[in-house]
Amino acid sequence: MSNKEGILIVISGFSGAGKGTLMKRLLSDYDEFALSISMTSRGMREGEENGREYFFVTREEFEQAIEEDKLLEHAEYCGNYYGTPKAYVEDKLKEGKNVILEIEVQGAMQIRKKFPRALLLYVTPPSIAELERRLKARGTETDEVIARRLAQAKNEVNYIHDYDYLVINDNLDECVKEMYGITCASVFEIKRQNEMISELKTELAELKF
Ligand code: 5GP
Repeated sequence: MSNKEGILIVISGFSGAGKGTLMKRLLSDYDEFALSISMTSRGMREGEENGREYFFVTREEFEQAIEEDKLLEHAEYCGNYYGTPKAYVEDKLKEGKNVILEIEVQGAMQIRKKFPRALLLYVTPPSIAELERRLKARGTETDEVIARRLAQAKNEVNYIHDYDYLVINDNLDECVKEMYGITCASVFEIKRQNEMISELKTELAELKF
C-alpha cells in the first residue's frame, strides 16, 4: 500500500468492543500503522503504564495543554478528560504512516470537521449482551462504572451514522483483516485523489486534436 501522506484513521466503539486488542494486532501485523497515545486525566488502571496506554496528567495539566493548543481534539467522557496530542500525529502522517486515533465520538466528530479526509471506523461487538459480558469479564471496573459505560453506549449508538464503516468484532483475526482491507481501499477513494484527478485534467486539457 503506497500513498504519500498517511491516512488519519479514527477508531471508536462501545467501551468493551475490543478496540485495544484490535489495535495491538493491526500494529503488530502491519508496518504502515502508528498509534497515537492520548492524554487523559483519568486515574491509571492496574497494569497500565504512563506513556504506554496514555499520558496520565492532572485536570490542570490537561487544561493547560488545551490552552496551549497542543491537542488535535479533546473531550470529556465519564467525568475525565481525554485528548490527542497534535505533534506525534502530524509527524507520523508526514512520514506516510496511517495514524490510528482510538477515541470516543465527540472527539471523532471534531476530527471529521478538521480533517474531512479522515477515515472513521466504528467497532461493535456482535450484540449488546456480548458487550455486557465483555465489560464484566474485564474485572477492572465496578458495577457502577459498567452501568455508566452501558448508558454511554445508548447515547453513542446515535452517532454511528456519522462514521464511514461499521466493523463487527466477532472473530479477532477476521476483524483485523477487514480493518486492513478497509484502509487499503480507502487510499483509492475519490476524496483522496484530488492530485491525480488534477493531473488527468491538465493532461486532457493539453491534448491537441
Ligand atoms: P478508557 O478510559 O476506557 O481507556 O477510555 C474511555 C474512552 O475514551 C474510550 O471510548 C476511548 O476511545 C476514549 N478516548 C481515549 N483517548 C481519547 C482521546 O484522545 N480523545 C477522545 N476524544 N477520546 C479518547
